Amino acid sequence: MNGHPFYKGANLLSGSNRRSFLLKAGIITTGIMLNGCLRKLKPNTPYKNITGTIKGPNAKAGHILRDKLSLPVSTGTRQVKTLIIGSGISGLSAARYLKMQGHLDFELLELEDHVGGNAHSGKNNVSAYPLGAHYITIANNEDTLLTDFLQHCGVITGFENNLPVYNEYYLCFDPEERLLINGQWQEGLVPEFGLNSTDKFEVKKFFTLIEQFKMAKGNDGKYAFDIPIDNSSADDSFRALDRISFKTYLNQQKLTSKYLLWYVNYCCKDDYGQKIDKISAWAGLHYFASRRGKAANADANAVLTWPEGNGWLTKKLEADVSGHVLKKIMCYSISYNQQGKVVAGIYNITSGTTSTIVADNVIMATPQFINQRLLKEGVTRIMDYSSFNYSPWFIANITVNHLPQAKGMGLCWDNVAYDTPSVGYVNAGQQTINMVDEKRVLTWYLPLCDHEPRVARLAAYTRTYEQWMDIMIPELEYMHPGITEAIEHVECWIWGHGMIYPAVNYIWGPNRDAAKQPVNNTLFFAHTDLSGISIFEEAFHQGIRAAKQVLAIYGK
Ligand SMILES: Cc1cc2nc3c(=O)[nH]c(=O)nc-3n(C[C@H](O)[C@H](O)[C@H](O)COP(=O)(O)OP(=O)(O)OC[C@H]3O[C@@H](n4cnc5c(N)ncnc54)[C@H](O)[C@@H]3O)c2cc1C
Repeated sequence: MNGHPFYKGANLLSGSNRRSFLLKAGIITTGIMLNGCLRKLKPNTPYKNITGTIKGPNAKAGHILRDKLSLPVSTGTRQVKTLIIGSGISGLSAARYLKMQGHLDFELLELEDHVGGNAHSGKNNVSAYPLGAHYITIANNEDTLLTDFLQHCGVITGFENNLPVYNEYYLCFDPEERLLINGQWQEGLVPEFGLNSTDKFEVKKFFTLIEQFKMAKGNDGKYAFDIPIDNSSADDSFRALDRISFKTYLNQQKLTSKYLLWYVNYCCKDDYGQKIDKISAWAGLHYFASRRGKAANADANAVLTWPEGNGWLTKKLEADVSGHVLKKIMCYSISYNQQGKVVAGIYNITSGTTSTIVADNVIMATPQFINQRLLKEGVTRIMDYSSFNYSPWFIANITVNHLPQAKGMGLCWDNVAYDTPSVGYVNAGQQTINMVDEKRVLTWYLPLCDHEPRVARLAAYTRTYEQWMDIMIPELEYMHPGITEAIEHVECWIWGHGMIYPAVNYIWGPNRDAAKQPVNNTLFFAHTDLSGISIFEEAFHQGIRAAKQVLAIYGK
């Protein structure tokens, strides 16, 4: 993709400017953090008609943890049996499971003013929209913990011939996906339009391979690729695939068609925020081969979505644990007292005061790069924190007053252009029946994977609003000529550490396993970091796994 016209904006770091850029970035980043998470837009030409902001996770909190700022002395201590830190899907799921099992003496702390972590959503007067996670696929049928939850919140309405019936309102409305390729929009994302016979043969060969992997089982009788990931076979003939990159594997299989490689790269960027040379072959194949869900009223791999994306699921989980969640409360340290109880230092973001919670046990539903900062002396974990790699992401929610159309397939839920840096946009209003108003919100996703994550992260924090528009708008214009005039508002969101990505030898290497191990049977860990694959299902199960460890202490 080097030299691609769309990389003009993203390649701000090439050549000898990189070192001076990094130095500058460090300084500027601090300035931004001190000002909080919101950077004001001062519109310049040529985007005079566009208003908007750049937002992201609470930067003040991140600044306190990262730069070890001194905090006021603790104003008091209280006790709780179980403390959960972080209300992403894994923390909410842990809380819900504890409550379902009758373990009620717990608190769930969240530093933001909302729950949901990366499954957070926003809303304006046109539509609700996702700010991160935006869909799940129908569940694998044997995953009854998940299907029970989906039934509980009305996503599954019943069963016919033992197959779940999914609520038609949440199954992605047709048409689902389209791809702009060789000058035309085609239906579906697998390239078809303009491919020669060799390309078509390779695409077919790849999907034949995937069908075999979907049903493949190891010598322990388990599926080669499963969800949750830890249910997958331990057979080394499959796990060895974690020790090579997906790119190497595809090469070994003589799968080299540029169209196929584009598609596979697109999928890895979409789910992992990285390209095929960065992630393991096991993880790459898992994306395609782990989903075997069957429904009475939907195709295999059917998508469930809502205008606010997985923010909808977040609200359902939150409702189940209401009364236990404390927002704008950040944990800044975890240590032990002499009685072996866990001591959590707590910062109240609203009042600026600190206090202490003494807990019998704690579930840390926070990413490892945060845990590294929270865990103090006396908390020993034998693992290499540098093995956790995070993909940065840029999201833009774009309000348009109409959408100029082009040749071929009309607007779908997921709209992608071949060989562009982004993974396209989803139409937040797809699930809305009111089609009268032409106004829409489009959620555009850009994984920042053209540089090492640290460099891409720093660059993301330093870019101005206009620079983001310079990156985004040429691609949108390519998809919809004339769209710039139709854009009214763009809300930008930066996820500096968006999601863990499954680097080579991470999933079945030593560090993921080490990170899952409890400390002193009092400190437990839940987060998609511990799966290496950041999807709702994994977060949901990581929460339950940690909750079960806590319940076992009480003989439940
Ligand atoms: C851009 C993007 C798109 C995605 N799209 C999808 C998708 O379409 N489908 C899908 O299934 N998944 C998607 N994901 C993955 C998504 O991250 C997971 O599905 C899931 O939401 C992760 O949940 P989690 O609990 O593991 O972590 P997180 O969401 O990281 O939650 C951690 C929580 O801990 C809180 N926290 C951190 N430190 C502290 C502290 N010191 N004190 C208190 N609270 C703290 C955070 O604020 C946060 O709420 C996407 C992710 C990104 C970044």
